[in-house]
Amino acid sequence: MALAYIGCGANLGERERQIKDALQRMSAFGIKVEKVSSFMESAPYGPVDQPDFINAVCLVSTDLSPGELLAALKRIERDMDRLPAARWGPRNIDLDILLYDKIILDNGDLTIPHKDLLNRPFALLPLIQLAGEGFVHPVSGLSLKEHLAALETREKYHSTP
Ligand code: ADP
Ligand code: MG
Repeated sequence: MALAYIGCGANLGERERQIKDALQRMSAFGIKVEKVSSFMESAPYGPVDQPDFINAVCLVSTDLSPGELLAALKRIERDMDRLPAARWGPRNIDLDILLYDKIILDNGDLTIPHKDLLNRPFALLPLIQLAGEGFVHPVSGLSLKEHLAALETREKYHSTP
């Protein structure tokens, strides 16, 4: 049995309801939702002009392998009629594997830990809520607290007064 953290996002339609719907659909694939973070609203990330997102993170337990878990999440996205959206574009539901146990994996199709986790406050903050700020990132060896501080410093230097 593995433990994984899944990042959930939506910025079209009834955003909270869709995230809850996605969580409910997981059990049919052998994915048990153990904990859900608060929902947070944030401005879109990346180059596409689009509505604000609601994001949350959930902790799941599963016997699925990382590849099987990704396939199940993509299937849920498809079943929920996710538009054939541009990367970073608007979507009914986006489900990303942030962490899977302490696994480090990069096979072209799937990168774990998620490659943008440490750049995205809307993933890092709810993850800290569930995993705790002492949780150590398997690649960097740094705690999530240290990563959050680094992200905040970076954002401060980037923003104009
Ligand atoms: P993003 O979630 O970065 O906004 P997409 O959802 O459009 O972008 O990402 C699409 C592809 O990213 C997926 O088809 C999948 O193959 C790949 N991918 C790589 N690593 C992961 C991961 N950890 N979780 C989810 N998808 C991933
Ligand atoms: Mg995704």
